Amino acid sequence: DDNHLAHALRAASVGQEGATFSTNALNGAVTTYGELWSQAEAMAGALVGLGVQTGDRVAVQIEKSINGLACYLGTLLAGAIHLPLNTGYPAAEVSYFLNDAAPRVFICDPAKLDTLTSVATEAGVTHVLTLDADGAGTLTDAADDATPLAQAVARGADDLAAFLYTSGTTGRSKGAMLTHGNLASNADTLRDHWQFTADDVLIHALPVFHTHGLFVAINVTLLAGGAIILHRNFDAAAILKDFSRATALMGVPTFYTRLLDQPGLTTEACAGMRLFVSGSAPMLLDTHLKWRDRTGHTVLERYGMTETCMNTSNPYDGERKPGTVGLPLPGVSLRLAGADGAPTPPGEPGGIEVKGPNLFKGYWQMPEKTAQDMRPDGWFITGDIGQIDADGYVTIVGRSKDLIISGGYNIYPKEIEALIDDIDGVTESAAFGLPDADFGESVAVAVVLDRGAEVTADTIKDAIAPQLARYKHPRAVHIVDALPRNTMGKVQKNQLRQTFTPEA
Ligand code: ATP
Ligand code: MG
Repeated sequence: DDNHLAHALRAASVGQEGATFSTNALNGAVTTYGELWSQAEAMAGALVGLGVQTGDRVAVQIEKSINGLACYLGTLLAGAIHLPLNTGYPAAEVSYFLNDAAPRVFICDPAKLDTLTSVATEAGVTHVLTLDADGAGTLTDAADDATPLAQAVARGADDLAAFLYTSGTTGRSKGAMLTHGNLASNADTLRDHWQFTADDVLIHALPVFHTHGLFVAINVTLLAGGAIILHRNFDAAAILKDFSRATALMGVPTFYTRLLDQPGLTTEACAGMRLFVSGSAPMLLDTHLKWRDRTGHTVLERYGMTETCMNTSNPYDGERKPGTVGLPLPGVSLRLAGADGAPTPPGEPGGIEVKGPNLFKGYWQMPEKTAQDMRPDGWFITGDIGQIDADGYVTIVGRSKDLIISGGYNIYPKEIEALIDDIDGVTESAAFGLPDADFGESVAVAVVLDRGAEVTADTIKDAIAPQLARYKHPRAVHIVDALPRNTMGKVQKNQLRQTFTPEA
């Protein structure tokens, strides 16, 4: 069995007698690793029976479930490429992605079959199947008499394991091609770095169609032979309750702010937990400090992306610096450089570039974009801007696409946001550039206030003015109810720019 990733995951988990896989807030079912892998072998058998071959994409749009996980593992065992789609996509979006990725098989929830069959067929999909997320767990209509695939189809480290679409924060989602080697090495590094063992019980409330929920949370725990408690949605009270039987939580910053609203969040409630991880979007310093205060734990923040899995992490044992995303992970090289590739002077902000076994193979059917972002010597231009402190800790300052350039000066949104967030009565803020006839762009900010706070646009302008060079002063301050975010809690600055660009 030399199916690189599946082999590693199976070898680690199957031998774990006691380790169970359970669901919470789903149907309460408890699944052992043995059952999970038998189910995966049955699905792999069905896929191979349909003629699925190495290199074929198997696209899925199914609710998070044990069956869904078995389907992911079954696709790997069959030597095919797992392609998960956001369960929130309506038919038009599904159509776009199926046309883009041209999968051989598309699997959806039974309730969506009627709507999506024609969509998939028009996109050239050969087999449209259903998988009942909470049902018996076989692929309906897939060769009923298929025999489970006991012997995985061989796949090496360099073979493709998954196509994952980026979150689409800065534009159309791009299909990132990830190899068995990318995913296996990433899971291996993180398991060691975060000290995951078979004794760990992970609370899983993230979507499984992004790197964070699938290739970090699921793969790392499987590779350690630990247990996973699946939550289909984020429900703060239910998650807090699970702290009594779990050891770790992986989340996005919104998880933590919502958990902080729970009166039951105390040091005692967290006594059995050993690790709280946050990523996908920046965590406010305020959230870090409040969490430490209430629970006695420092959230371990890390930084990654679809194209590269994880890049950096705060240390498990060493000093965790709130506000930073930590140090490059073992095996990952990280540098700051300008657009021309010239190194950024120490201490200054620059474009984050990474290199290592975590680097994807390129964007699906976008050779020009791939060539633009991947330097000939292997450095990948992440599109994020960072700063590195004297100890090597990385801080994300923003995205290069969100950089505001006014009168020829670079303005990093985070500098302005940090000052505004510090004002009493401010919950959070987002700074962005708007077209300006004189200066190219001028600074605008959207600010969310604490409930009942009496802060005005003018108070905000006055409070930060003495601390900022004139060209960084916000021209417009908009008080808003909430910042526009996607499912991973990322602020959609494109949307802010659209909303607040004055009509010409
Ligand atoms: P798209 O590439 O389609 O515009 P996206 O970049 O949001 O969308 P993902 O690959 O899901 O898609 O997200 C990766 C990005 O998330 C990183 O490039 C970075 O900007 C951001 N990110 C991840 N972790 C952190 C973190 N801890 N702090 C700040 N930003 C983070
Ligand atoms: Mg991106």
